[in-house]
Amino acid sequence: DRFEDCDLHAVMKENISLARYSTPTPVQRHSIPIVTAGKDLMACAQTGSGKTAAFLVPTLSALFGRARELSNPRPMNRFDARGYRAEPLVLILAPTRELCSQTFDECRRFCYRSMLRPCAIYGGADSFPQKIELEKGCDILAATPGRLQDFIARGKVGLNRVKYLILDEADRMLDMGFERSIRDIVEQSGMSQDRQTLMYSATFPRAIRKLARDFLKPDYLFLK
Ligand code: AMP
Repeated sequence: DRFEDCDLHAVMKENISLARYSTPTPVQRHSIPIVTAGKDLMACAQTGSGKTAAFLVPTLSALFGRARELSNPRPMNRFDARGYRAEPLVLILAPTRELCSQTFDECRRFCYRSMLRPCAIYGGADSFPQKIELEKGCDILAATPGRLQDFIARGKVGLNRVKYLILDEADRMLDMGFERSIRDIVEQSGMSQDRQTLMYSATFPRAIRKLARDFLKPDYLFLK
């Protein structure tokens, strides 16, 4: 019932204790072993339940163990950076700029002392500083769907290396009219079938259940 007892990378355990999280919240306690076991997941979670750490802790922890093999080369200088395409290992789709930057803050906390570099891209803000950050290297990307599509179209982000796809507040993304964008991102961006997909949602209308059937492996787990 403590993070100490979870099967997590030592760096992740240190970052959790630096964040002063001592006991996992219910959604964390249930998500972590499922994600660590490699299963796809559809989970019911409200804001404030600790859902962000529920998906970041097990996914980043697994990547820490493979960082040398997986992490992306960083551009050496500005000249190098111009031709650089970010190839994130983790893609987190979120409905709003606020959620995206909260998720990014939590990514920074958990990526501390690891070889992984997080970035965030979202609409309603100038894209130039976001591009500069991507060009410094990006392993973990938190994105709103529209802004991500812009960067994909410009060749600045590619999704061939995504190992973990996370849809955060999936019901809100559909409410905001992002279904077409999300489907295009997942189905037409060359994302590997050999990825793990996690969906978090507060409600489960028909459209969400359909999305789960389309995106998750048939043996996915449903966490109420
Ligand atoms: P979330 O539901 O992911 O938006 O998280 C809500 C808040 O709870 C955030 O400010 C987290 O930093 C905090 N939090 C998440 N998990 C824990 C935990 N296990 N112990 C203490 N605080 C936590």
